[in-house]
Order: sequence, then structure tokens, then C-alpha cells
Amino acid sequence: MTKRIINFTFVRMDDIKMVDLTGQYLRLKKEIDASIQSVLDSGIFIKGPEVSAFAGRLGRFLDVEHVIPCANGTDALQIALMALDLNPGDEVITTPFTFIATVEVIALLGLKPVFVDIDAATFNMDPEKLEAAITDRTRAIIPVHLFGQSAAMSKIIEVADSHGIPIIEDAAQAIGAEYKGSSWQKCGTMGTMGTFSFFPSKNLGAYGDGGAICTNDPDLARKMKLIANHGSKDKYYYETVGMNSRLDAIQAAILNAKLDHLEDFIRRRIVAADRYDRFLADCPSVALPSRDENARHVFHQYTIKVLENRDGMKDALAKRHIPSAVYYPKPLHTQKAYLAYGYNAGDFPIAEKSCDLVLSLPMHTELTEAQQAFIAENIIVLSKSIE
Ligand SMILES: *Cc1c(COP(=O)(O)O)cnc(C)c1O
Repeated sequence: MTKRIINFTFVRMDDIKMVDLTGQYLRLKKEIDASIQSVLDSGIFIKGPEVSAFAGRLGRFLDVEHVIPCANGTDALQIALMALDLNPGDEVITTPFTFIATVEVIALLGLKPVFVDIDAATFNMDPEKLEAAITDRTRAIIPVHLFGQSAAMSKIIEVADSHGIPIIEDAAQAIGAEYKGSSWQKCGTMGTMGTFSFFPSKNLGAYGDGGAICTNDPDLARKMKLIANHGSKDKYYYETVGMNSRLDAIQAAILNAKLDHLEDFIRRRIVAADRYDRFLADCPSVALPSRDENARHVFHQYTIKVLENRDGMKDALAKRHIPSAVYYPKPLHTQKAYLAYGYNAGDFPIAEKSCDLVLSLPMHTELTEAQQAFIAENIIVLSKSIE
């Protein structure tokens, strides 16, 4: 039985965007323009008050002691790993179902990525499979809070602590997401270090690249500040091998303006996700995103599983001017660039299967109910014809 959800004849189909950065900018234009202008007027483009203000404010938002801004979320991961002083061949555990950056930095530092398969419902690292992946060379665990939902941190922390292994949370997709262990905490603040990305399409997006690392450990904070700044505290004196990874002042100014709206951005995404849940509740052969009751999902992506012919669904939606995306089409352990680590197809069957089923629907802060109804009606019709 098809329920007609809403009259969608007034939806201009061409308007539906996977991510609508322009729409959000136009809504906040006055504040953002003023913030950018103040940097131009100040003549301070690297470091300076906007960057330190952002670090302090993000720390208060996250309820964490130290925030180190850096150039992007990939550098954030690299800086966090470098702060652990690892040796070539040391092992770092992560998931094969994530953006490449998580694994790339492990490889770049001469470390060995060790994968743990994911949970089929949440797409996050399966904590029940973590213990078996730990060896006497394991030096770090990087859980990823994929699509905006926390990994199952209680169990991950329990296993990591029992071996004394530090955790770096990749919270690039999950700023503002929360998890309930002994109390509710923000993603990125539960492990030893947490990393964030301000890539424009992330939930708190700059208008260029940006990133940050946070920690409650003062020694690691000091070290990461050095590393992000050529290994130097005093100009031209170097204590450690570092990198040039700074958050631009203009990006910091944009982020300062947008940070005031982050809770509203999150609320809008959750409202949109709730609407998709409602509109697609009876849709055959589609599985909706599963929500961990101990997590506050911030819906960086709204990712369904299309159980029959996902690619057919994606193409048919595109013909109706409805964008969608596959995050991610191929797990990292079978990627050509990473074959040298010796993994094979079949090693992480849930990650592999998920790559064939996932479909992320348009999700952003400007999505309207009418647009979502139009998207959902089309998915329902298509899933019936594909069945
Ligand atoms: C976006 C992202 C990163 C990298 O962030 P950049 O700012 O693009 O370098 C790392 N990990 C995950 C899971 C991401 O989604």
C-alpha cells in the first residue's frame, strides 16, 4: 500500500543537492562576511587571535582541555600518531570501512594498518572483534565515528585500557556527536586524542581545509602543538621533526562564526533524519540507518542499505534529478594502494558487503520536508519496481 506522503508538485527537482553549502552561506552571510572582513582588516593571516579564539571555543564546546588547530583532518590524524613516537612496523588498528585518510596516515608513517571488521548495523568497528586483532606490536587504535554516529566506545575503551593502548578517535564526521558510557561525552574526547575535519561539507565546515586535534593530556597537547608547527616552539630552534600544519586565520574566522550555529546545524540534520525515517518506514528492500541507543547521531550522512540492486536505484534516482552517493564503494583492505599489507577479499566480509549495499541520501542543513518527501516517494516507487 502506497501512502501519499505530501503533495510534492511544487518541489523543483533540480534544487535537490547532496550538500547545500551555498544555501547555508546565504542564510548566515552577514555574520560570515563580517568575520572574514575582520581578518582582512587585521592583516594577520597565519595564527593570531581568530585561531586561538577558535581553539578555546571548540575546547569549551567539546568539554576538553586542549584543542590544537591544524590544516585539515588528515594532518590531525598524522599529528596525533606522530605524538605517540611510534617505530616502523608498529601496528595501528582501525576499520576498513572509512575514508582513506584514516589508513593513509598509518601507511605514510611506516606503520602497519591492522583492520577490524565493522558492525553491520552501525558501520562502525565491531568491538567484539577488537581483542583478536591486538598483538604485542599494537601501538594505537583508531575507531572512526562513521557518518556521525559514535563507535561503541565503552567496549573499545575497555579492551584498549586492558592492554594500555592509546585510542585516537577519528571524529571527522562526528563533531558534536555524543556517546553514553558512564556519562554522556562528546565524540573525540573519550579516547587519548580525537581528530576533527572542517572540510567544507563536514558538519562544521570551513570554506577551504581545516582540522583540529583535542586531548586532555597536557604532554601530548604540548607535543602536538610542536609537531604542527615544524617541531618548533621558538622560531628557528627545532625540538622534534614536525610539519607545517596550521589552520588559516580566515578559516578560523569562518569557523568562529559557524560554531555558534553548530547545535542548530545538528538539530536540523536530526530533524531531516527523523523525516526520512518516517517517510521511508514502510519502504520494501531498504534498511534505514540504525541508531545506537547510547549514541547521539549527528547525521553527517543519512545512509540506507538498498538490499536489491543498489546501483540500479542510484542511477534511477539520478534520472529523476535526485543525487545520492556511495560512501564507500570499495573497502580499504582490497584497494590497490594497500595490497602490500597482505589482506584479501573475504577477510572483512561485513565491510565488503556494506560497500555493495550502502547509499547515502541528500543530507544537509537546508533540506526541506517537501524535498525529502519527493526523494522518499521516488525511492519507494523504485524499490517496488526493482523488487
Ligand atoms: C573527512 C575525513 C577525514 C579527513 O579530513 P580532511 O580534512 O579532508 O583531511 C578523515 N577521516 C574521515 C573519516 C573523514 O571523513
